[in-house]
Amino acid sequence: MLPLVALVGRPNVGKSTLFNALTRTRDALVHDQPGVTRDRHYGVCRLIEGRPFALVDTGGIEGEGEDLAGATTRQARAAALDADLILFIVDGREGASGLDAEILAWLRRSGRAFRLVVNKTDGVDVHAALADFARFGVEDALPIAASHQRGIDDLLDIVEASL
Ligand code: GDP
Ligand code: MG
Repeated sequence: MLPLVALVGRPNVGKSTLFNALTRTRDALVHDQPGVTRDRHYGVCRLIEGRPFALVDTGGIEGEGEDLAGATTRQARAAALDADLILFIVDGREGASGLDAEILAWLRRSGRAFRLVVNKTDGVDVHAALADFARFGVEDALPIAASHQRGIDDLLDIVEASL
């Protein structure tokens, strides 16, 4: 069995774009409308050097219920709890939201290994984008721009080191 990495975060932060970048497919639905990926979506990231790993894209965690209880959210949470490593994706343009904070609290309660990945840092001040998430108190947030293939190598290094 390959180690499993889960992409988790609220809708529209770029999870499916990152999934495509890592698996080099156009499989995952990428859409401007939040919540397009309904189900879990699996792929494999094959590296030239290093061990391949499985990747699961999720529909995103939405604040549908009072306590992250909606169906899509349940799927995403279940997928995350199966994973060896969770990549918590946030939007570096929009900055930290209340829903991000809720997801973070849930991740911490879950006790699972996760890394904070700040996406969409193209065309913005990377330091400012990261600073907005500093209040989360998460070590080593990684800035990337999935749609520009930026930061992907660093992300892969982190994934490999964590698996
Ligand atoms: P998901 O709902 O989290 O799966 O997000 P998607 O991958 O569907 O992306 C949502 C929107 O964000 C799409 O319009 C993407 O093209 C856009 N997007 C994704 N990654 C980036 C990025 O690195 N930079 C910018 N500027 N836009 C991005
Ligand atoms: Mg998606």
